[in-house]
Amino acid sequence: MNIEKLVRPNILRLTPYSCARDEFKGKSANVFLDANENPYTLQPKLNRYPDPLQENLKQEISRVKGVPASHIFLGNGSDEAIDLVYRIFCEPRVDNVVAIAPTYGMYEVSADINDVEYRPVLLDDGFQLNADKLIAATDERTKVIWICSPNNPTGNCMKREEIIKVLTKFQGIVVLDEAYSDFTQERPFRYELDQYPNLIVLNTMSKAWGCAAIRLGMAFASPEIIALYNKVKYPYNINILTQQQAHEVLHNLPKVQQWLTTICTERAHLVPSVAELPLCKRVYPTEANFFLAEVTDADRIYHYLVEHGIVVRNRNRVALCGNCLRITVGTPQENCELLSALRQYKA
Ligand SMILES: *Cc1c(COP(=O)(O)O)cnc(C)c1O
Repeated sequence: MNIEKLVRPNILRLTPYSCARDEFKGKSANVFLDANENPYTLQPKLNRYPDPLQENLKQEISRVKGVPASHIFLGNGSDEAIDLVYRIFCEPRVDNVVAIAPTYGMYEVSADINDVEYRPVLLDDGFQLNADKLIAATDERTKVIWICSPNNPTGNCMKREEIIKVLTKFQGIVVLDEAYSDFTQERPFRYELDQYPNLIVLNTMSKAWGCAAIRLGMAFASPEIIALYNKVKYPYNINILTQQQAHEVLHNLPKVQQWLTTICTERAHLVPSVAELPLCKRVYPTEANFFLAEVTDADRIYHYLVEHGIVVRNRNRVALCGNCLRITVGTPQENCELLSALRQYKA
């Protein structure tokens, strides 16, 4: 596997921006007059540029995620980790990418922004991944395949053997988005990085970790791919407030574990309760903190819920998701309110 051959020539040639904090790698210093910062500030540290490579935070994430720090890139949400894949590997109007469909919308939006052809391949029955179909959609200009497991908006995990088939047969980058891996018993692929040099696994602090507002996404990959990410990213892409708050959550793991347990228990109650309602045709199996429900009239029920102050995601216009609502598992109180509103709905 030759990763370099997949990289855009301008990125290979690129001399990255060298910031003040990169340049000074000497002994400890306590007078910093190198970055034109203000020595005065309202709050300690906020006057200083943050660590461009977030070494301390990566050490902690490494311990929790079981991935060496050298295999970690941190981004301004997964959104940054997604966008950079295009900027590193895909020549606009020349290269293309293949993705499962339906899936998370940002892969396509980011392709459009970067002027890269996006080739969606419909999932099989049961929203399953068919490796041969995905690979059949590739050609010599396909740089990336996008897979999401557990998948958004369907909620199910892709079959392990099929993911492995894509990883071993496809001679390009495979991005596997595991944003929801904390909600499933499946073994995450981030532990298999050494076996698959073309694999990028995405994680986020926005879901299980309860930190959507701080915008912190992760890409796990070989050090070679991480070096490409670091070359292309904005110098100080993770601000210090985000880094501080991330440390805070990482020091409260029992709390996170408690949230996960509660959410999974709630999911186990909520899914069958929704499934038995007259307005519900079926709930698809889920291993995430949301579920996809096929209902009698998605548009009408969506607006009915909004009138009751409850917002769900209407996926009616998404391929294979006709008349489907995607519903996040909330607190016990919120789930009760949802169920009680749905029970009072008149067809
Ligand atoms: C919610 C979600 C994310 C998170 O994106 P952030 O930019 O990190 O908030 C990533 N991937 C999928 C599939 C998601 O559903």
